[in-house]
This record gives sequence, C-alpha cells and structure tokens, in this order.
Amino acid sequence: MDTKEVKQLLKKQLDEVTLQINKLEAADQSEDPTRDIDNVTEDDYLESEEGFRSQSIIDKLTNEKKRVEHTLSKIDTDTYGQCDECGEPILLERLAALPASNLCMECQEKQDAQRNLRN
Ligand SMILES: [Zn+2]
Repeated sequence: MDTKEVKQLLKKQLDEVTLQINKLEAADQSEDPTRDIDNVTEDDYLESEEGFRSQSIIDKLTNEKKRVEHTLSKIDTDTYGQCDECGEPILLERLAALPASNLCMECQEKQDAQRNLRN
C-alpha cells in the first residue's frame, strides 16, 4: 500500500479538523460573558443548551483529530493498516473508504455497540 498518499490525505484531514476546532473555539470566546446577567431564566437555559451543543461538536472534532494523529503515527511506526485491538490487518476496502481507520470491522462493531449501550 502507498502510505505516502495516505499520509498526505490524513494530513489534509488533520488540517481541516484543526481549522474547524479553532473556528468553533474562537466563536465561543467571542461571546460576551456578562451578556446574560439580567436575562430571564428561560433565555439562560436556551443559551446554555447552545453552548453545550458547540462544546460537544468540539469534543467530537477533537476525538477525530486524535484519531487522525494516531493513524499518522501508525504510518511512521509501520503499523498502519493493523487493528489497534486485535492486531489483525484491516481490510483494504475499509482503509480506502476510511483512511483513518484504526480498528478492523469486527472490533469497530464491538466498540460501537459498547458506545450505544453507554448513551
Ligand atoms: Zn480488530
């Protein structure tokens, strides 16, 4: 497999995710913290909901960033294409569709099932 190409692709992905995180964080900080002081409770509630939503998007993007960074480090250590959990090779079709895959189909499904249970 041509990891050079994958590396370029992942670096691009990393740049994009980092950019999105920076944008969201900048948007968060531009909000005036004293703005809410005299607001009624209902408004405060809605505003905190919104803040919560953008934070959860940032969390998601941060996870994505970590995943891409991890995949890049796997290329450097020559373990790219191996499942993090069981060490089995990840299907090439899966890697082609999702270059930042760190788990084989089976382990991914297990992880997804666990995540669904938690939510
Ligand atoms: Zn696996």
